[in-house]
Parts: sequence; structure tokens; C-alpha cells
Amino acid sequence: MVFPVALFFTVTLLAIPSSLAQQADNSMPTALAARIGGDEMRTRFVVDIDRPVDFRVFILADPYRVIIDMPQINFNLPANSGQQGRGLIGAYRYGLLAVGQSRIVLDVPGPVFIERSFVLPPQDGEPGRLVVDLIPTDRETFMRRLNATPPAQPLPQTMAVPPAPEMRQDIGKPLIVIDPGHGGIDGGTVAANGVREKDIVLTFARALKQRIESDGQFSVVLTRDTDIYIPLAERVEFARERQAALFISLHADSFREASVRGATVYTVSEDASDQEAAALASTENKSDIIAGLDLRNETEDVSGILIDLAMRETKNFSIQFAEAAISAMRGNIRLNRNPHRFAGFRVLKAPDIPSVLIELGYLSNRSDVQELQSQAWRDKTTTSLVAAISAYFNGR
Ligand SMILES: [Zn+2]
Repeated sequence: MVFPVALFFTVTLLAIPSSLAQQADNSMPTALAARIGGDEMRTRFVVDIDRPVDFRVFILADPYRVIIDMPQINFNLPANSGQQGRGLIGAYRYGLLAVGQSRIVLDVPGPVFIERSFVLPPQDGEPGRLVVDLIPTDRETFMRRLNATPPAQPLPQTMAVPPAPEMRQDIGKPLIVIDPGHGGIDGGTVAANGVREKDIVLTFARALKQRIESDGQFSVVLTRDTDIYIPLAERVEFARERQAALFISLHADSFREASVRGATVYTVSEDASDQEAAALASTENKSDIIAGLDLRNETEDVSGILIDLAMRETKNFSIQFAEAAISAMRGNIRLNRNPHRFAGFRVLKAPDIPSVLIELGYLSNRSDVQELQSQAWRDKTTTSLVAAISAYFNGR
């Protein structure tokens, strides 16, 4: 099998009503607390959970990670859970990976061995516990274990996957795919006030979809309309399968200088326009690693003369749209001092679909965080983008 991960994640492509994936009902197990104990010689990771769950633990390399998969559960953990490591665990994160499947990713600074993992059922008023014990090992042993493990198969799900609703795409109208970045287990950047990139971009994507649709000239589909993770390659595939006329990926990252602010539009290029653009693209391209995907068998992108030619034309269209977007936003919302940049973002690599990635603002800048959460800013930005989309298509 060339790309077993694809099988694993096919369910994420279904458009799920937001109420389904986000509901926190009693039919699902709930994680109530999580903690790390021990030291560098032996580290114990514990999740308190209100009932026993099926789970599977496995390792991934480069960077070293321990993945705990389980059917979909509610994570009812304090907001800062996972930021503080201890012993062999540097940090951890958790969230929805696909409909019906939750995941916890433990970042481990060095190679570890899963000494033990088990679930204790609730007893005498105490919650149940999922326990994973780690001890240190060397790289050679770690890699031997890793290569002996077959790529992950899906776990049984806590609920049936709903059938895909009919994709409402009006014949004759160009289709625009909007891609809210991150989601689920990959939260993206977090602002000082706790606001997460994955939520900011989803709220904005919904508003943009509504605004574009009310204009009447285009159909719109979101790659995700819930708090769920989608692998980078699947975001691109999603647009290609639907023969989208334009792909817009939405982000709001941070920068080490808190004074930097404003929106930036990126188009793809193997040569980044500057160091900041290159650094940002490499952060964004790590999304699949953050979500704990098994990328061992992923093949290199195929390229050839035909694809190169198609890409050159597509790139020019992408640049045209980026420029239309910038001129429509200029004067209405705050732009970065250098608003059109280039870098090798993984999600911008569809050879046949003009694609841009818009960094709406910086979550490292307090004024931007305020703007990104305001209805007034959303209105101005979505209105500008609709004007840009219209100008771009009418110009073609
Ligand atoms: Zn991002």
C-alpha cells in the first residue's frame, strides 16, 4: 500500500454538520483530568476518564512522539493542559483527529519505550484511568520497534459516521474552497488571552462563506466546518476532487516580534521571499507532525514537464488573485508592511488550482487579536475578499 494513512483518514473528508462533531453529550466518554508523574527514569502519563475506552498506543519518530488513539471522547481538561512537561514528556496535546476518533500526542525529547499501558475502570466513586508508562531507550531500539509496528488502523468508533450530505454546488458557478487551517488536535497558534488560531480561522471561514454566497456568483465549500483535524494533503485533494476554481487557506499565526501585525497573502514558491516567510511555511508544514500522522510511507510529489507547465500558469493566477485581494483589503483593514509574500506552503501545491494562504493577522500582536475577534473587522475583511474574488474572476 503506497499511502496507508489515506485510508485511515478518509472519514475526515465528509462534510459533517457542526452539531455532530462538537456535541459534548453523555453518550461519549469524558476525559476529566490528565497529569504526568515520575522523572527521566520512568514517566507515567495518566488520564482520568469517566468510563473505560478502547485505546491504542504507538510511537513515531523524527520528531519522537507517543500517540494514544481512542474512539471519540469529550476532553474536559483545563485550558492550559499539556503545556507543562515532566520527566520524559516535553508537552502533550489532544483533540479530535477524525469523526469518531480522538487522539493524544505526547512529545518526547528523546527515544522512549512504552513499558506498560492499561485502563482501570472507575471504582468506588473514583474515575477510571488510562495509564501509559514510559522509560528511556536508545534510538536503535526505538527505530527497531517503530519499524516492527504496522501503520495504524482505525479504531472502532463511538458513533456511526453520518452519510455525506449532498454537496450543494450550483452548476455553472465557480467553486471556491475555503480552508480554515489547523483544527482538532492541531490548535495552531495560541494568543496571550487563550484564543486559538483554529477557532479564529473557522469563525472567519464561516463568515466568509456566508458573505460570498450572499453575493450569488459563486459556490463555496469549507474543507472543515467543525473542530477537526485534516491532513495537509487531504486539504489539497479536497479542492482537486471538487475541481475548485480557487483555494483560500486561512491562518493567523504568531511572530517573535509582538509589534508585527496586519494581514499577509502568500502564494507558493520554492524560493521563499524572505526568512520570515520561509520560517512560517516550515511551521505550517509541520501540521501533520503535530497531529501525530504516520508519514513513513508518504511518497514525494510527482512532478514532470506537464505538471510544471500547469503549475506555472496556476502560479500566475494565484499571484493575480493575491494582488486583487491585497488591493481590495488596502485601506479597509490593516495589512502587513510586506503584504504579498512567497514560500513553499504544502497546502498551496495543487498544480491546477489557483491557491493562496491568507495570514489574517498575528496572534502575537494584541491589537490584531482584538481585531480578529471583532465583528466589524470580519465584515470589512469578508467584504474586501468578495470584491477581490469578483474582480479576479471577471478579469479572467
Ligand atoms: Zn496556521
